Amino acid sequence: MKKTVLLFTALFFLFVICGVSFAADTLQNVKKRGVLRAGVKDLTPGFALADVKTGEISGYDVDIVKALARKLDARLEIVPIKEDERISSLTEGKVDIVAATMTKTKERERFIDFSHTYFVTEQKFLVSKGTVQRLTDLENKKVGTVAQTTSEINVRKALPAAHIIIFDDYVPAFLALQKGDIFAVTTDEAMLAAILSKADKGVFEIPPLAISKEPYGLGIRKDQKPFLRFINKSLLEMEKSGEAKKIYDKWFGPESQIPLKRAFKISSN
Ligand code: GLU
Repeated sequence: MKKTVLLFTALFFLFVICGVSFAADTLQNVKKRGVLRAGVKDLTPGFALADVKTGEISGYDVDIVKALARKLDARLEIVPIKEDERISSLTEGKVDIVAATMTKTKERERFIDFSHTYFVTEQKFLVSKGTVQRLTDLENKKVGTVAQTTSEINVRKALPAAHIIIFDDYVPAFLALQKGDIFAVTTDEAMLAAILSKADKGVFEIPPLAISKEPYGLGIRKDQKPFLRFINKSLLEMEKSGEAKKIYDKWFGPESQIPLKRAFKISSN
């Protein structure tokens, strides 16, 4: 008799625990709330840049999460985050999804899950015209980048003798390049091209020197299989319907201010 009571008590608690983790299901929570909270950057031209007057953030990353919110039948709540908050904003439960030029890496996958790749670029350098032909031209020079990024890790490996200067963001790094305080800015080409599109192209350039490939994924909390499945299914639908290319073309297409070839398609591999 005692054993049966114990068994029922154990089963009861098991159901309670399951119920609690079920309640922590991101997909269900977003639907229940009717709000998708998305972490995006706010000083990254092309991907997520805040308008100086209105404060409204717009860009490729914003349009991707807008489309996902529509598919979830939810309102989009934009939460501005910095590079070093991309993982903690998810693990601390502040956002449901992160769309922030975040490269999919094994190290990051220890803490969060990634969606299918939704953008691909390469890490390059933004320099004064004619100053860099080969990578060795950057050795012993001051190169600006941002901490907690693959840009910092890659450049330290590729240019062990360079002086890496850390900035809060890539735009301030570019301002330092303009002032002549540093010799180059390094990060993903799409971000550099977006910054260059607003600068004097007669003065600065991005030489064809790539030091890495950078496939971006949308970040979500670990163990959220239904949410991850929904996001991946939606991204594949957006590729198939042409919506993903339309968003790409709006920001990086041939008619845009930052024309870059779309050398990828969103797929399940
Ligand atoms: N995409 C790279 C990263 O995830 C570098 C650029 C950036 O997003 O800051 O760290």
